[in-house]
Amino acid sequence: MDAPKIALAERVLQIKPSPTLAVNAKAKALKAAGADILNFSVGEPDFDTPPHVCAAGKKAIDDGFTRYTAVPGIPELREAICQRFADDKGWSYEPDQVQVCCGGKHGLYNMAQALFGPGDEVLIPTPYWVSYPPIVQLAGATPVEIPLSEDNDFDLTEELISKYVTARTKAIILNSPSNPTGAVFSAAALEIVGKMAIKNGWVIISDDIYDTIVYGDEKLPHILDVDPRLKEQTLILNGVSKSFAMTGWRMGYTLGPKHIIAAMNKIQSQSTSNPTSISQKAALAAVSGPQDFPTMMRDAFVPRLDFIMKALLEIPNVTCVRPKGAFYVFPNLSAYFGREFNGKIIGNSVELADYLLDEALMATVPGAAFGDDKFVRFSFASSMATIEEGMKRLAEALGRLS
Ligand code: PMP
Ligand code: GLU
Repeated sequence: MDAPKIALAERVLQIKPSPTLAVNAKAKALKAAGADILNFSVGEPDFDTPPHVCAAGKKAIDDGFTRYTAVPGIPELREAICQRFADDKGWSYEPDQVQVCCGGKHGLYNMAQALFGPGDEVLIPTPYWVSYPPIVQLAGATPVEIPLSEDNDFDLTEELISKYVTARTKAIILNSPSNPTGAVFSAAALEIVGKMAIKNGWVIISDDIYDTIVYGDEKLPHILDVDPRLKEQTLILNGVSKSFAMTGWRMGYTLGPKHIIAAMNKIQSQSTSNPTSISQKAALAAVSGPQDFPTMMRDAFVPRLDFIMKALLEIPNVTCVRPKGAFYVFPNLSAYFGREFNGKIIGNSVELADYLLDEALMATVPGAAFGDDKFVRFSFASSMATIEEGMKRLAEALGRLS
């Protein structure tokens, strides 16, 4: 007798697995099988976690710090996060306005579960990071894309936002510097968002996970600097994954109004209980220790960015807005759609990324995964040798399309 086919919940049928993690897994599997794959897919620093942070994790194990912790994270870590924000940004938060969780992605998940439900609409400037729409959908709410344009450096304008606002708008997600474009929202755009949010009572989710990787000397504009009242309706998302090369430790944190953090703690207490005790001790070393590591990494990305931008712009018919932060470039490769290779037409970003993987042995993420099919994302958090070879392969592969 056939095994019964168990029906899955409606919510899981609405979403797809994370495309960035899926491409990374495919690239790693091909590499393990011996293929000479260059991996430009996943966004994670190619640096090791700093030694003092690893030592703190090891010490936690040796000290037997291996039991359940407080649901929102150990008090000393939440205090250290408040101190870091006060020192670096001049923002004042109390430990009970902080939740530590299992990575930035988990912080977003907790927020969405605590705030959103059926009927709510969440504004998402697009191109967006791949997990925003599914996390909103898993909470039963509706993601509403605001299409940004490369002609306007992927910035927001009042006219654009107004087109997508309804009486059901509950929140807007800001990600600056952005994954995948590397764009930064201008102070003028944030001023507009701030005004609209105050007028309409929206929640602002400010995903600042790339805020230590900013190129140039200009101060990164931030929504909390627009109007002090916005602190009461803003959730700040951050973590150590990108800033301290700690993607595998799964450590993120949210700062925001007490009652929202308390609601997120309720969700956390009934789901993961607490973030990993060992990772919390490591994150404490990262947040409270010397801060030269993120700057060193940022400085190391600069020549890679310069090289990759120059190489991309030398390829005919490619446009690319120069990133102001993060470690991605997002070139517009749509001029190559409609061309063919071996009798097969490349019709969109997914087919182009497949072609690059098959024919140039380079893993990238198609723009479609980020809500804009004209582009393909390349992470340049990889060695200069990989970037040099990759750009050569890209130019050749695009040149072979007729
Ligand atoms: N936000 C953005 C924009 C990201 O690119 C990522 C990817 N890592 C995250 C949040 C989540 O990071 P993590 O869960 O690895 O801490
Ligand atoms: N945020 C990174 C990326 O976009 C890591 C993968 C993920 O969490 O989606 O590639």
